[in-house]
Amino acid sequence: MASSTLHIDLDAIASNWKALDAKSGPATQTAAVVKADSYGLGADRVARTLLRQGAKTFFVALAEEGAKLRQAIGDGPEIFILSGHMAGDRDMLDDLDLTPVLNSAEQVKRHMEVSPATPFGVQLDTGMNRLGLEDADWRALAPMLLEKSPKLVMSHLSCSDEVHMGMNERQLAEFTRMTDGTGLRRSLSATGGLIYGKEYHFDLVRPGIGLYGGMPFAEARPVVTLSLPVIQTRMVEVGETVGYGNTWEAKRRSHVATISAGYADGISRRLSNNAQLWAGDTPCPLIGRVSMDLITVDITDLDGTPEELDLLNTHQGVDAVADLIGTIGYEVLTSLGARYERRYSETLA
Ligand SMILES: *Cc1c(COP(=O)(O)O)cnc(C)c1O
Repeated sequence: MASSTLHIDLDAIASNWKALDAKSGPATQTAAVVKADSYGLGADRVARTLLRQGAKTFFVALAEEGAKLRQAIGDGPEIFILSGHMAGDRDMLDDLDLTPVLNSAEQVKRHMEVSPATPFGVQLDTGMNRLGLEDADWRALAPMLLEKSPKLVMSHLSCSDEVHMGMNERQLAEFTRMTDGTGLRRSLSATGGLIYGKEYHFDLVRPGIGLYGGMPFAEARPVVTLSLPVIQTRMVEVGETVGYGNTWEAKRRSHVATISAGYADGISRRLSNNAQLWAGDTPCPLIGRVSMDLITVDITDLDGTPEELDLLNTHQGVDAVADLIGTIGYEVLTSLGARYERRYSETLA
């Protein structure tokens, strides 16, 4: 029996990066966000692919992620740590040339005490109230920080994929006000802001989800296919039920396939009776409840029995699955990533 496999199209990731790089234009550098193991797809492989395309700057969430990434990509490319300089990070930051994005007065103090010679970036809060120096802290610390030439000053948009709130414009104005005249390399936008408008690009953009085929980058090439092997099939007579809680009842004599994957593999139980799996180009309804390790599928309308069925493919991407269960593509991707055999395809240029 085949194993459950997450196919990852590295060419599609490369092409998405290039398309976003083209949108951001020649005056703006396009970095790549590879936190959470590249949204579950494997930061080492993704980063090496993007290096070949010309990416020179990467962002991860944690120093530990940065350390692993440095081992995978070698010396040279910049690696920024979004969580900043946390207690105990010093050796990793110093030894592996990782650049923390300092987020608070406390982190600034820690960094200047323990790693005064290690380069750093600064994050400013422009309204999201999650990470970053507040205006008053920035004003107090800026003279000292500017003297040490931060590698980057950045902020993050809270509503970059929602155009109606005026929040982007307010954050843009705040970021501009806080950083004009500093002469620093500036970055405000992730995928959403990059698409939203040129004035959000500044010197560097930081796309993540768009590289991996997710919204809000609507033209993204799909990146993942999730194929789940069929373990067993049976005929179910009219009136019989399938799965826990008897939530599906056969209205016709039905051919039912049981496939090897479930909510323990990051496939939400909320997909019960509420999704399609694909035999190539043919959709087949998921029937009954998703259990811990198994899913049942109505394959009556297929000729024969497929070896595997796909939950994610070019017909049904991460955002389509996310819509079914009231979440976002980011969560679907990151909950799947680590649990399957990963198979990469890449045409080495
Ligand atoms: C995750 C993250 C990004 C990338 O965001 P996408 O929406 O995936 O493009 C960029 N910047 C920061 C600060 C982030 O936390």
